[in-house]
Amino acid sequence: MLHETSFIATIVVGLVLAFVFGALANRLKISLLVGYLAAGVVVGPFTPGFVADQKLAAHLAEIGVILLMFGVGLHFSPKDLLAVRLIAVPGAILQTAVSTGLGMGIGWLLGWTPGASFMFGLALSIASTVVLMRALQDRRILDTDRGRVVAGWLVVQDLLMVLALILLPALATLLRPESGAAAPPLNVEAVAMAVGITFAKVAAFIAIMLLVGRRAIPALLHYVAHTGSRELFRLAVLAVALGVAFAAAELFSVSFALGAFFAGMILNESELSQRAAEESLPLRDAFAALFFLSVGMLFDPMVIVREPLPLLATLLVVLVGNAGVAFLIVRVFRYPLETAITVGVGLAQIGEFSFILADLGVGLGVMNERARDLILGASILSILLNPVLFALKDRLKVYLEKPGAVAAPVQAEPALPVSTLTGHVILVGYGRVGSLVGEALQRDRRPMFVIDDAVSTVDLLKVAGVEALTGNAARPELLVAANVRQARLLIVAIPNGFEAGHIIQQARLANPDIEIITRAHYDAEVEQLSKLGANRVIMGEREIARAMIEEVRSDGTPGGVEQPSAPPVTSA
Ligand code: AMP
Repeated sequence: MLHETSFIATIVVGLVLAFVFGALANRLKISLLVGYLAAGVVVGPFTPGFVADQKLAAHLAEIGVILLMFGVGLHFSPKDLLAVRLIAVPGAILQTAVSTGLGMGIGWLLGWTPGASFMFGLALSIASTVVLMRALQDRRILDTDRGRVVAGWLVVQDLLMVLALILLPALATLLRPESGAAAPPLNVEAVAMAVGITFAKVAAFIAIMLLVGRRAIPALLHYVAHTGSRELFRLAVLAVALGVAFAAAELFSVSFALGAFFAGMILNESELSQRAAEESLPLRDAFAALFFLSVGMLFDPMVIVREPLPLLATLLVVLVGNAGVAFLIVRVFRYPLETAITVGVGLAQIGEFSFILADLGVGLGVMNERARDLILGASILSILLNPVLFALKDRLKVYLEKPGAVAAPVQAEPALPVSTLTGHVILVGYGRVGSLVGEALQRDRRPMFVIDDAVSTVDLLKVAGVEALTGNAARPELLVAANVRQARLLIVAIPNGFEAGHIIQQARLANPDIEIITRAHYDAEVEQLSKLGANRVIMGEREIARAMIEEVRSDGTPGGVEQPSAPPVTSA
């Protein structure tokens, strides 16, 4: 019974505190991750009060990693991955090697054995997939070329980790401190065998996924989608993501993360993938929050006081070493400056892989506890600093693009210039509804500014010469960037009533005269959106009904009125 209490308490207290601290972070306009990490420190063993079950939190976090990587895989096709192999493979290997070398330098300075220094360096060289993918997703750069280079880089690092986790126990006798001249000779054959088997297993996993999974998984989801049960579909998505990840780890020694990534990638080619992604979203965010919470729990704040200098040096390897080496490599490959900076900043943190390596090192007797504390300390500090680095990167970008114009931020939001359009239409949402409206506006040559969540949609619009911005229009700075103050009309064509209400409220505040037309699905929404300031609320379902009635009547069905030219509004 006691065990069950701690199980439930860990989940409940963890999620509640993650929410509270996340909300606080949001209020302070800092990354939500910082809130989750802080919540972790609060429920961790190093601070007084409630202490959550650390092991359990780590397991829950693993589910977060799986769902997150599944979602990332959904954005990738095998083609995308192959396209970046020429930079990702040599880049990741080289960066891992150089950063390991830098870490070994610290180990040497602290008087550790070469084996301990090596493992320490390796732990500092491998970035956290979860942290990086979250950063890319939050900043909507996952679907860009830069995003693909970083993701490919991570897949290679992930494979290196798989190899390391298998080889290190085999090499432990060599790496252990007491193994000096008298160490038993290395069994080269056994090591070669282990490497060979690992490669074979990974290759077998990939082959099975591409040959069998590619057909079987979409077929399964198609079947479930046709049952019409949303509940079953959600369960199917979850079962596929977790099932493939687990099988990958248990049967093929591939990491959970890589297994889930492949499961997602398989679905990328199927039309169901978007739906699958949406279905797995709510759970994914909750578990990802638990991931960061579990990282926070590992952190002993006293390490900052106990070992300030070694900690600083370790942190510098992660921040400057990883980022600098990656930056240089990407530049040598002649990629644009921004790609190099994104890769560099993205890799300037360490997380889950480093914890695993640190635990393994201590468990094998190769590394001491002090090294593990330094790794954990550097990890949490680098994760905390990562959003700051990304913000600096954005500032740097503004600076690079417009020399001399750094000091002109709009309300502390540096990156978004305000549109010069006036008397224009702002169209929020360019999906099934918005795109039809947008095309009509373009035909009528009305000046228009589009805001949509989807990067790919906005990219296409920009190519077509339409002013457009990616992001959630509920963020006030986006409406400001669309020059809402001088716009004539706002059309909110998104399905979510809550968000639409928020957008309308913001727009009304900024521009009392703007005409606002919005979309709704329920009577209650119509009322609410009107109250918040919409001039016209079009309820989709009513319009569909109207069109259907017209169809019926135009058919000449008994009782109907002949209407041969019924408007084709049925596409909504
Ligand atoms: P549809 O329901 O097919 O008309 O699509 C709605 C469109 O609105 C999609 O392209 C979404 O990416 C976009 N969208 C949904 N919510 C938001 C939001 N809060 N801000 C910006 N775009 C959004």
